[in-house]
Amino acid sequence: MYDIVIIGSGPAGLSSAIYAQRAGLKAVVVEKNYLGTGQISESERVDNYPGLYGENGFDLGEKFRSHAESLGTEFIEGEAVKISKNTTDYSVELDNGNSLETHTVIYAVGTERRKLQVEGEKEFSGRGVSYCAVCDAAFGYFVCCLIIRLPPRSSPLYSSAVSDVYKRQAYNDYVEY
Ligand SMILES: Cc1cc2nc3c(=O)[nH]c(=O)nc-3n(C[C@H](O)[C@H](O)[C@H](O)COP(=O)(O)OP(=O)(O)OC[C@H]3O[C@@H](n4cnc5c(N)ncnc54)[C@H](O)[C@@H]3O)c2cc1C
Repeated sequence: MYDIVIIGSGPAGLSSAIYAQRAGLKAVVVEKNYLGTGQISESERVDNYPGLYGENGFDLGEKFRSHAESLGTEFIEGEAVKISKNTTDYSVELDNGNSLETHTVIYAVGTERRKLQVEGEKEFSGRGVSYCAVCDAAFGYFVCCLIIRLPPRSSPLYSSAVSDVYKRQAYNDYVEY
């Protein structure tokens, strides 16, 4: 019997694990995918957290995990597929058929970003393609970048199209292709 089963090992799940262990509670983290670090492991660089500058997301996630581990948190690799309530406690079923009995469940499964399904999206995710304006969209290499298709240079429409782009004050750069 666990005090807490934490589903998801992203920053939220691992923060919960650290607090639980420090409070002397018996916690286990169940993770189906990222083996301990959540989505932050996909970020090439994390700059928006006081005390960190230019930290690689994978390394940061590993630190979260080792912090939780050093306090005694147990980790189980697997997907939680069902939570049921018994009289006073909970049962968390895993995809391998095992189940964990616990007094409390913390459901920290994060979210999944809606993808554009365009070429290069996956390859450049975290390295130019951003889904979070306040996280990594401030990195200079792609801020305010509008990708447009211009008419050919020989076309009379070319210069008016370019000047139209410049009029768009919201964007200060464009890529011509
Ligand atoms: C490419 C990229 C770059 C980013 N850059 C930054 C940044 O620079 N700064 C910043 O602040 N934020 C950044 N973020 C956002 C940040 O990673 C998230 O806000 C953060 O990870 C959310 O933490 P979380 O613990 O809520 O969820 P998550 O990190 O999503 O963790 C949830 C975990 O739960 C697991 N899970 C889900 N369902 C189950 C289940 N049924 N059973 C078991 N496990 C399950 C998932 O596999 C996942 O590992 C970035 C995200 C991405 C994708």
